[in-house]
Amino acid sequence: MVSRTIPVDPFDLVIFGGTGDLARRKILPSLYRRHVGGQMPAEARIIGAARGEMTDEDFRAFTREAIEEFLPETKRDTVTLDEFLAKLRYVRVDAVGQDGWSDLRDLVRPGVIRAFYFSVAPSLFGALAERLHEHGIADAESRIVVEKPFGKNLKTARDLNAVLAEHFSEQQIYRIDHYLGKETVQNLMAVRFANILFEPLWKTEYIDHVQITVAETVGVNGRGAYYDKSGAMRDMVQNHMMQLLCLIAMEPPYHFDPDAVRDEKLKVIRALEPVAPEDIVRGQYRAGGGRPGYLEDAENPESRTESYIALKVGIANWRWKGTPFYLRTGKRLKARTSEIAITFRQPPHSIFDHPEGWRENVLVIRLQPNEGMNMMVMIKEPGPGGMRLAQVPLDMSFAEALGEEGADIPDAYERLIMDVIRGNQTLFMRGDEVEAAWAWADPIIEGWEARGDRPHSYEPGTSGPEDALMLLHRDGRRWREIRE
Ligand code: NAP
Repeated sequence: MVSRTIPVDPFDLVIFGGTGDLARRKILPSLYRRHVGGQMPAEARIIGAARGEMTDEDFRAFTREAIEEFLPETKRDTVTLDEFLAKLRYVRVDAVGQDGWSDLRDLVRPGVIRAFYFSVAPSLFGALAERLHEHGIADAESRIVVEKPFGKNLKTARDLNAVLAEHFSEQQIYRIDHYLGKETVQNLMAVRFANILFEPLWKTEYIDHVQITVAETVGVNGRGAYYDKSGAMRDMVQNHMMQLLCLIAMEPPYHFDPDAVRDEKLKVIRALEPVAPEDIVRGQYRAGGGRPGYLEDAENPESRTESYIALKVGIANWRWKGTPFYLRTGKRLKARTSEIAITFRQPPHSIFDHPEGWRENVLVIRLQPNEGMNMMVMIKEPGPGGMRLAQVPLDMSFAEALGEEGADIPDAYERLIMDVIRGNQTLFMRGDEVEAAWAWADPIIEGWEARGDRPHSYEPGTSGPEDALMLLHRDGRRWREIRE
């Protein structure tokens, strides 16, 4: 398969918070990979901006270290790294003061695309937008990129949207949910809308239920105090898992166009049913295996924040009424895996005498690790003993199916940053989508806060709290095994 790289137009990308953790781990290494991939025009310039004293050379050394730390040797080489570093500049600015802004204005060039990555705390978004406007650095074509968390409830999300809207139109705002940049997540749309096979069956008449799992083996140590203010619902469900659910549940958009896609996702979010307390199980991992428990990691012995959540979600529309979506995500679980499993219903009538061998068809889309798809189908068990049935996988690993190209799946940030430069918002969340997701999540969170619910504690290295099993058992279903 031939790799096709579409070059982008010349740009100046200013990274506010260019010396922060996200820039070091993701943004700068991803930009370098796009340079290696031939997508970065010769005239591209990347400007790091923060309050710290640094020269251009210091920022280049910082970036070199970041790339060496976060990219394996096979993904970098001296020649391309030197070429890439030559594109970097650094400017010292303070978002909340006047320092450095005239230097930044002198540095950005007329006639090229200007993009501003707000890789700083959300409390600084308003100040940055204001300064860019005040100093005439941003124009009507400029783009701004903002990171999660986008608010912590509907009110704060609305406030953030309003602050940005004072100086930028919705077409200029790129709200990152890095899940949308994952190749396999985009593949959900390709699988659904580029094949005739699935869409006729993609409805409650044929789909029994859907399971979306995002399991991590790590705990929250290191960022426990920060995580404790958020929890799994805010950190994972309201944004990443909601996006996955939307891509599974949405109607076919009329075109693969930013607003057409986002309109359809928004309709799904608006159709989500309220979640009853008995359809939610929250958990906190206990100490175990020589590692502290959640309460210790969070440095808050009284914490009621969940490191695990499972919920049963209903969608009130013609396509999905009667098909539950079970979502679960947690930390310190038995394996690191993200997958979507779509379980089909039974055939209306069995002509075979051995229905005990029969199992449902399941389409599994693996997001990580080992991205791919797996379709569980029934076949005849080999041998002369009559017609016995067995379930087998039609397994496809993208790495194997696509050869070299599949093995080199780009990081989500590579795709997303290039989309910003290209001016394509399809894989970014629109303001109304984010607000609708909070409008659904708020009453759920407020409900357990008002009731004073405590999360169940669970053994680390397991599938989560026992009660989460019941969520499916009581509906005559079971969770899929969590495994890599
Ligand atoms: P961080 O490591 O604390 O870095 C913050 C950056 O902002 C530093 O470069 C800092 O440099 C700069 N900064 C702070 N105050 C400033 C000011 N007044 N004016 C100009 N620059 C200022 O934060 P981070 O982890 O990179 O996170 C950045 C954003 O991304 C946050 O919104 C975070 O929620 C989000 N995010 C991060 C991750 C992640 O993995 N790290 C993942 C998802 C989302 P100086 O102190 O020198 O100014």
